[in-house]
Amino acid sequence: KVRVRFAPSPTGGLHLGGVRTVLYNYLFARQHGGAFILRIEDTDQTRFVPGAEEYIFQCLEWVGLVPDESVQQGGAYGPYRQSERKELYRKYAEQLVENGQAYYAFDTPEELEQMRRDYKTDQNPSPQYDHQVRGKMRNSLTLLKDEVEQLLKDNIRHVIRIKMPENETVGFTDMIRGAVNFNTSLVDDKVLLKADGMPTYHLAVVVDDYLMKISHAFRGEEWLPSAPVHILLWKYLFGIENMPQWAHFPLILGPAGKLSKRDGAKYGFPVFAMNWADPKTGELTEGFKEKGFLPEAFINLLAVLGWNDGTEQELFTLEALIQKFSMDRVHSAGAKFDYEKAKWFNHEWIKKLDPKELTKRVKTVLAANGLPVSDDHQLQQIIELVKDRATLLTDFYDQVSYFFKTPETIDLAAIQPKWNEAKKLFFNEVIRNYELSGFWDAQTLENNFKEIAAANQIKPGEVMLPLRIMLVGGKFGPHVFDIAAILGKDETIRRMQHTLG
Ligand code: GLU
Repeated sequence: KVRVRFAPSPTGGLHLGGVRTVLYNYLFARQHGGAFILRIEDTDQTRFVPGAEEYIFQCLEWVGLVPDESVQQGGAYGPYRQSERKELYRKYAEQLVENGQAYYAFDTPEELEQMRRDYKTDQNPSPQYDHQVRGKMRNSLTLLKDEVEQLLKDNIRHVIRIKMPENETVGFTDMIRGAVNFNTSLVDDKVLLKADGMPTYHLAVVVDDYLMKISHAFRGEEWLPSAPVHILLWKYLFGIENMPQWAHFPLILGPAGKLSKRDGAKYGFPVFAMNWADPKTGELTEGFKEKGFLPEAFINLLAVLGWNDGTEQELFTLEALIQKFSMDRVHSAGAKFDYEKAKWFNHEWIKKLDPKELTKRVKTVLAANGLPVSDDHQLQQIIELVKDRATLLTDFYDQVSYFFKTPETIDLAAIQPKWNEAKKLFFNEVIRNYELSGFWDAQTLENNFKEIAAANQIKPGEVMLPLRIMLVGGKFGPHVFDIAAILGKDETIRRMQHTLG
């Protein structure tokens, strides 16, 4: 049975790359009738950020990629927060020590510092605790058995490190990259269990992927260098044949290399799924949600950031993605994020979304901006008229608000230069005509307007802009008679009279 997991560490906001990892996991699970698990990897207490876990849940809810098992949903393989599983890991670490595949290390921070100074050379600027060094340090490989037992009895601070074999090749087949091999001599003896009794990521990820029966593990490319450690742990603890199939996703690149928070600030685009305020600095980083992206568009643009279906098609619903996604079409090279393209996706989705649904979303945005709307039917009509002009949901405020309230400013400068008495007389005649008109549809309004213009020998093109300014305040908006039709007789005439004075 397919079981996949997203395993974030609650160290900050969930960015583009994180949501894409969630998405590919989700698609794979749904496609195979499997389960998608959310596991919180919070064993590094120094990097823990309060609120981050809650934020991750909220993001997943917003994008509609809700896990089947998690801290919130529960499930048969809980707890789903590693800090609550602490007691579980030690026995595996100790089993490795007993089997000679790991060892206790008692080195103090000062001794480790000293080691880094002693072994530092130009070729090796940051020496590691590895097969060349371990023999000179204080650990159960160099101390006598009695000494080790005494140190343990005295509760002397210690960690457990994996003993990386010398000059062996370990490898696996990545679902995206194919065969990947590592020489174990190049990998250091990573800590598995820390002095505080917490496992490190390396031990916890392997133990939990095993205990939670994970069949496929997908993660970012930055974890590829850790793979040899994990492969050995699988081999030693659970049997290599039980190791999940792995895929390492390519990085998402910004305009200047790896996409970063700074890129967002510099080039003016969001990098997080939702607004994220750093609890330490209070600094707010903009999110896609608040910027006015539809979750449908956000998911769509992430899906094709590193994957395509082999055709030119770019617009996909979640349902279509579940049908079409395949790991062997995920690129191994980094994918470049382009904010203009992201906005294009959103614009397409605004046009594509079910009008009722779009109305609901726009209504929320308007309300948040202090414009409550009660007539959903009318709002939907208006949205249909203006949606071609909206790229982000937040654009709708400017496109829609003048239907519900008198424009705050009237751009008189746009009509004044060519204004004259003839035009004023013309508009007064239009008002009289509109007052008496029994019909109030765009076509009738336009016909009457043009007839009156013709009778006064005025070109309609010369009076269309003034009418628009009277009704919406500026040089924008859809077809002006469509606007008048929706505004209704009283409001249209009121606005015309207001500008005419
Ligand atoms: N906790 C790791 C992270 O924060 C997860 C890596 C993995 O999925 O194995 O990215």
